[in-house]
Amino acid sequence: MNDPVISKLALFFQKLPGIGPRQAKRFVYALFEQDERFIKDFASTILKLVDEVSRCKRCFRIFSGKAKYCAICENPSRDESKLLILEKDADLENMEKNGIFNGSYFILGGLLSPLKPERKERLHLGDLKKRIEDTNAIKEVILALSATTEGDMTRHFIETMLEGLTKKRGLKITNLGRGLSTGTELEYSDRDTLKNAFENRK
Ligand SMILES: [Zn+2]
Repeated sequence: MNDPVISKLALFFQKLPGIGPRQAKRFVYALFEQDERFIKDFASTILKLVDEVSRCKRCFRIFSGKAKYCAICENPSRDESKLLILEKDADLENMEKNGIFNGSYFILGGLLSPLKPERKERLHLGDLKKRIEDTNAIKEVILALSATTEGDMTRHFIETMLEGLTKKRGLKITNLGRGLSTGTELEYSDRDTLKNAFENRK
């Protein structure tokens, strides 16, 4: 019953978000049904994540390439005065797809949690502070975090962390309008909802 390869592969899939043991096994069986070329191509593409994908040293998004900075950060026509803080890569991808924001980004890499204090270490909070301190051109920091306990806790932390700069530099901190609220909504919001949330930020 406990075939080592099948169990091991299933455990890999279980590491992915939202995948339980049952779904993981289904993936293994479905993969086995594919032809050999598919499986080899799948495996070698996964390996490319190590050699051909990087995390931008400036906005912390993940992108294909081995440069220090991503194409958005290297684009001189982006508006440096606005910095949009997002929880994760999928949020940024949706923002770019809808093309309603021409400023710069910063990906936190998650949210603070009252139940999991160790999570704080994984977030790029120190890097965020440094980015804003080092970039005088930034006039407005826009927080696009979910309206959950975790989002509120993170928002409060960032506002406190930047307090000195808001006073010293007149830095403005705004929040996206509450049409966008709980959980994963930013990732899935359509163009009108996003546009509305931007126009109603405060
Ligand atoms: Zn970047």
